[in-house]
Amino acid sequence: MSRLKKIAAEIQNCRRCRLWKRRRHAVPGEGNPHARIMLIGQAPGKKEDETGRPFVGRAGKLLTALLENNGIKREKVFITSVVKCFPPKNRLPKKDEIAACRPYLMQQIALIKPKTIVLLGNVAIKTVLGNVGGLEKIHGRRILRDNITYIPTYHPAAAMRFPKIRKKLEMDLKNLIRGIEE
Ligand code: URA
Ligand code: SF4
Repeated sequence: MSRLKKIAAEIQNCRRCRLWKRRRHAVPGEGNPHARIMLIGQAPGKKEDETGRPFVGRAGKLLTALLENNGIKREKVFITSVVKCFPPKNRLPKKDEIAACRPYLMQQIALIKPKTIVLLGNVAIKTVLGNVGGLEKIHGRRILRDNITYIPTYHPAAAMRFPKIRKKLEMDLKNLIRGIEE
């Protein structure tokens, strides 16, 4: 079994925080184990909890469509979230839950070694980069750290609610692709 699969198995049995109690399926993430691009969201939603797969609900369909509009097949990237279990009623993950789950994400990044990481929404940005400023100011900018280019942008769930945010997310993803082709 690959090390990435071992981490997934560990996540599926994990009880490091309270979220294990009400999950149906943990959602370790999926995609290319050698992806050049990794995308990180916040937490699984209801659909993800039901299926064990990341970004398969409405926000996921939007994200998948935006990637494909830019010529990126979903299977070519790796998609996951900060916490791997569904927070009841879709509430924000709590600080201690994020702290408990973060090591899995860090191990996934270390194994996949992506060149570019797209951080979808404030939870992902803050968990991975710490305090780098508000989304309004920093979205779409490239932040280089330890040889990885981080691109903070909006979460597709917010983009579904607000057309203006959707435009910004679309632009950020378009620029990301342009940057990679250069
Ligand atoms: N939102 C996320 O952050 N992750 C998912 O897997 C689905 C929705
Ligand atoms: Fe474990 Fe993360 Fe699930 Fe909490 S959210 S139980 S830390 S896998």
